[in-house]
Amino acid sequence: MANQTLRLNTRAIHGGLDPAAHHGAVSVPIYQSSTFAFPCAEEGAARFAGSPGPIYTRMGNPTVQALESCVADLEEGCGAVATATGMAAVSTVFLALLRQGDHVVATHPLYGASRILLTRYFSRFGVTSTFVAAADAAALAAAIRPETRLVYIETPANPTLDLVDLAAASAAAKGAGIPLVVDNTFAGPHLQQPIPWGADIVLHSMTKSLNGHSDVVAGIVIAGEPAMLSALRDAAITFGLTIDPHQAWLVLRGIRTLGMRVERAQENASAMARWLEQHEEVAWVRYPGLPSHPQHDLAQRQMSGPGSVIAFELRGGTEAGRLLMNNVRIITLAVSLGGVESLIEHPASMTHKGISESERRNQGITPGLVRLAAGCEDLDDLLADMTQALARVTAGTRANSL
Ligand SMILES: *Cc1c(COP(=O)(O)O)cnc(C)c1O
Repeated sequence: MANQTLRLNTRAIHGGLDPAAHHGAVSVPIYQSSTFAFPCAEEGAARFAGSPGPIYTRMGNPTVQALESCVADLEEGCGAVATATGMAAVSTVFLALLRQGDHVVATHPLYGASRILLTRYFSRFGVTSTFVAAADAAALAAAIRPETRLVYIETPANPTLDLVDLAAASAAAKGAGIPLVVDNTFAGPHLQQPIPWGADIVLHSMTKSLNGHSDVVAGIVIAGEPAMLSALRDAAITFGLTIDPHQAWLVLRGIRTLGMRVERAQENASAMARWLEQHEEVAWVRYPGLPSHPQHDLAQRQMSGPGSVIAFELRGGTEAGRLLMNNVRIITLAVSLGGVESLIEHPASMTHKGISESERRNQGITPGLVRLAAGCEDLDDLLADMTQALARVTAGTRANSL
């Protein structure tokens, strides 16, 4: 079994695996069963009273449990609750911890639907929120009020790749005696572990790098302490947000290669970020691994690598970005990230269309910003694809200026 004396790749490969418990199977079986027979009435009663053993799949399932124990271990948490989607993970946290009259401090930019969950839905139940710039640690601390019940952050932030200082955010939350929640989807546990930095809860859209193959939507919430885990699990079970065993099995299979995929995608991203920064059509590049990133030092302090997502803008702005996206051939025009295939998208008209233009500007999401999520293809093929697509941008821009 995995434990914290082992390194990350070993833990990703062995986590949740106990062949002796499953007839020697080295791949955790899929327990495709909604309910589980009790050997006797007394044992059924004991399980409902909290003794280990499955009851009913919405409340727990051996395949799901294997996934939860693997990810909890990767994140240095005490346990985890796997959910049907990443948004179900975010919902689990808010439903478990917030009540009428509470206030949330969150950083911006934030994943679009997470922000909307607070501003459009939880606001209906009397929960208010304040959003502060990701890079402004002092503003985060200053926004905490007596009625603030949690601090919710995302680092690196989507799509600007601004970073939140985990140590500073943790100190601010601890000073107020409230939990710090970190959406760790962008970096993933291989590159950043917020719990050792003081986070109380970490969550993921496992749709992204944990699953890594763009074929599943799933999420997970990891807790640092058992009492918190129990509150989160109760909310996920009661609201019906938990994952099904088949989906859990696919994610667990994806996690077995997490380290190799993340490192390969990161090498591709680092090389492409440097290459883009030198290209004459490119106005600016934002990537935590580049010395030009304003928080490059912080990235080196709190992350073990800069990840696989790059933001950049072409000199020709929005139109040039559109030309680029319409001309890539291997890099795929699609939202999402963290898969083995490289994806490119336009936040202002796609992932971040739901927020107003002035709010986008305020958050640094410029109209021409293009988000590139590097995958695991051969770098030369990715660079050749960008070269031919940017040549068309140059030709198109020339045609327009004639
Ligand atoms: C994708 C994503 C989510 C939402 O996850 P789903 O699996 O699509 O529900 C939340 N946070 C971040 C940072 C994401 O990238």
